[in-house]
Amino acid sequence: MPQDTAIDASATDRLQAVRDKIAKRCEETGREPSEVVLVAVSKTFDASAIRPVIRAGQRVFGENRVQEALGKWPALKAETPGIQLHLIGPLQSNKTKEAVALFDVIESVDREKIARAIATECEKTGKALTVFVQVNTGEEPQKAGVSPAETASFAAMCRDTLGLNVAGLMCIPPIEEEPALHFALLDKLAFEAGVEGRSMGMSADFETAIGLGATQIRVGSAIFGPRG
Ligand SMILES: *Cc1c(COP(=O)(O)O)cnc(C)c1O
Repeated sequence: MPQDTAIDASATDRLQAVRDKIAKRCEETGREPSEVVLVAVSKTFDASAIRPVIRAGQRVFGENRVQEALGKWPALKAETPGIQLHLIGPLQSNKTKEAVALFDVIESVDREKIARAIATECEKTGKALTVFVQVNTGEEPQKAGVSPAETASFAAMCRDTLGLNVAGLMCIPPIEEEPALHFALLDKLAFEAGVEGRSMGMSADFETAIGLGATQIRVGSAIFGPRG
C-alpha cells in the first residue's frame, strides 16, 4: 500500500507538470490549451499504474499494441465512462475487428488494405471511429506511414472512397533528426490534405510540436515514468 501511494503521487505530479508545460507553451505561441489534446501513452504500464492518472482527470490514452490494450482497457473503460482510446501503433488486418471495437481513434492508418478493413468493420458494426493517416515524414524504409508525396491522395481516398472520418495526420520523426523539420512538414501536408488534426510530439519534443501546430501530443514517459 505505501508503495502504491508513492506511484500514485509521482504519476499525478508528472501529469500536472506536463499540463503546466502545455499551458505555458500555448501561451507563448498564442494558442488555446483546448486546441491541444494530451494523449497519455500508457503502453507497457498496467491498470494499477493507469488508474491514478484516470483519477487525476485524464481521459485520452494511447496504446501501440492491440493485444496489450485488450488486456487492460475493456475493464478500465467499463470503470470510467468517457475514456477515449487511441491506437498509435501498427494494425494488422487480422486484428481489425478487435481494434475497431476497443479503440475510438486509430492514428496509424498507413495503407489501403488496412483502411478498407477498418471501413468495412465500421460499416458492419455502426462504430463511429476517427482515423489519422500516419505519414513517414523521414521516408525511412523500416518505418510505417505513407510517403509525404502520397499523403493528400491517400487521405482523400480514405475519406471520399471509403467514407472514413479522417481527422488528421500523424508522424513519428526519425530519432536522429531535428523533429521541428518533421512537424513543420506534417503541418504543411495536413493543410494540403485539408484535414485539421496534427498528431505530433512526444515526451522529448511536445513543446516544439505545439509551437508548430500540433492538435494532439502523445506523451508517455513524461507522465508514467521510464518504461522498463
Ligand atoms: C511510445 C510512443 C509515444 C510516447 O513516447 P514517449 O517518449 O514515452 O512520450 C508516442 N507516440 C508513439 C507512436 C509511441 O509509440
